[in-house]
Amino acid sequence: MAVIIGDTCINCAACIDECPVEAIVDEDDNPTGEELYYVYPDKCVECVDHHDEPACATACPTEGCITWDVKFAGDDKEHFKGGNYIDGLDYVMNDPDAEMPFRDDISDEDRKARANVVD
Ligand code: SF4
Ligand code: SF4
Repeated sequence: MAVIIGDTCINCAACIDECPVEAIVDEDDNPTGEELYYVYPDKCVECVDHHDEPACATACPTEGCITWDVKFAGDDKEHFKGGNYIDGLDYVMNDPDAEMPFRDDISDEDRKARANVVD
């Protein structure tokens, strides 16, 4: 990933059209079955080369809803294979072999802690 949309999402739709790569789907299309918007970790580019910060988080009105997640690159992709989404569910991906861009100024600690993207 990337970023993750948490369970405080109010399904307001402010983020979805801001994403430059169409990585976000609404609650009806969330492939995990949760009633939340969902970011496909194998599509999110962390807005690298598009915006100075993740545009979805800038648009989101709900504090702390969109947080950092583990990088979707290299060995870190193991994180996305089992039970680490929300409620112990698995993430859903279209292309597990993808290698996605990420912001290298965000620490692995902040990613694992799901730190807020925007304070
Ligand atoms: S960080 Fe950017 S690329 Fe990733 S889901 Fe948000 S808007 Fe889309
Ligand atoms: S902008 Fe925030 S609260 Fe609204 S749908 Fe997106 S993630 Fe959910």
